[in-house]
Amino acid sequence: LLHKVSYNYQGNRIFLTKRGTIIMSKTISILGSTGSIGTQAIEVAKKHNFKISALSANSNADILEKQARELKPEYVCIYNEKYYKELKDNLADTSVKVLSSMDGLCTIASSKNCDTLINSVVGMVGLLPTLTAIDAGTEIALANKETLVAGGKLVTESAEKKGVRILPIDSEHSAIFQCLQGNKREQLNKIILTASGGPFFNKKTDELENVTVADALNHPNWSMGNKITIDSATLMNKGLEFIEAKWLFDLEPDMIEIIVHRQSVIHSAVEYKDFSVIAQLGVPDMKIPIQYALLYPDRFECPTKQLSLTDYGTLTFEKPDYETFKCLSAAIKAIKTGGAYPCLVNSANEEAVKLFLEGKISFLRIGEIVSSILDKFPYTEITSYDDVVKADQNARAYVMNMI
Ligand code: MG
Repeated sequence: LLHKVSYNYQGNRIFLTKRGTIIMSKTISILGSTGSIGTQAIEVAKKHNFKISALSANSNADILEKQARELKPEYVCIYNEKYYKELKDNLADTSVKVLSSMDGLCTIASSKNCDTLINSVVGMVGLLPTLTAIDAGTEIALANKETLVAGGKLVTESAEKKGVRILPIDSEHSAIFQCLQGNKREQLNKIILTASGGPFFNKKTDELENVTVADALNHPNWSMGNKITIDSATLMNKGLEFIEAKWLFDLEPDMIEIIVHRQSVIHSAVEYKDFSVIAQLGVPDMKIPIQYALLYPDRFECPTKQLSLTDYGTLTFEKPDYETFKCLSAAIKAIKTGGAYPCLVNSANEEAVKLFLEGKISFLRIGEIVSSILDKFPYTEITSYDDVVKADQNARAYVMNMI
């Protein structure tokens, strides 16, 4: 009989039974294991001797193969079917089972041999695996913000019904989650979501006309994947995080304040009824929020640097420019209006970012496309996964028709 569950210093679960102590390694699966969050999650997992039961990548088959050889998971899934046969052949000398496509991601998400599923895939694609894991009763460490943006209501309602915990990996949401510990949720006044401001902070529209892909990919503080780096440059990332926060912490939109904090040292803060503000600080390194999600509520040494506040000296705070950064205002408007709008702006943004990265549209066009969708589409409700899929397809078709 399990008497008490806790973790040792390596993050392994300790079951204190009536007969003694059993130490069991925590088992995790990582969707999006070759990306920025995925590779850092592997680093954290190795530091704490976690077992890894499954890994997946979109099309990065070479790195996925290397990870599979080193970490010996039960499953790997290559989402893009083009690489499936080659990866399967390459791993034929191992016992790793090779999967592909959405079916493969959902096989991993529904596997019982997993304590926590890290969902760090890019985009809307992450939604169905999240819903599948919730159905299987598996805890989720969520880095895929589009999951909550497109399907916030579905995801939070089904997680509640199944009693499944969703732990945030996004640094701002991890900060808020940490600041909420030990306080009464009903005494919360508001949350303060910090934004780095991205590479184009303080620039006006006319200065952004000739922005190149390389300019937009040059983020001042964080090193991340291409999609999120462009989202940081347009401030869409903060808009998506606004929506994500609404769902994760069950907030009204007017309880969320966004401030630009250029140094990315304060990862977000919360204000209580007594006007006490509690913030979480640290170096800008995703391994801290990843580890917090995986070891929660424990805090052991993280494979990163310590924060030295005197190295920074000054921390600054400013208001965002909602006029220039149209994506941010569009995302906030979308969640305030509700229905399918958050899903529509997210999908329109995914398509627009792809087109920008391919050199087919200008940087400013992303904001124009994303905000135009609010005027072009009538209000519709989202009550099922099919509704999300329909809204997603309509938004993508709308963007493709525009160019
Ligand atoms: Mg973030």
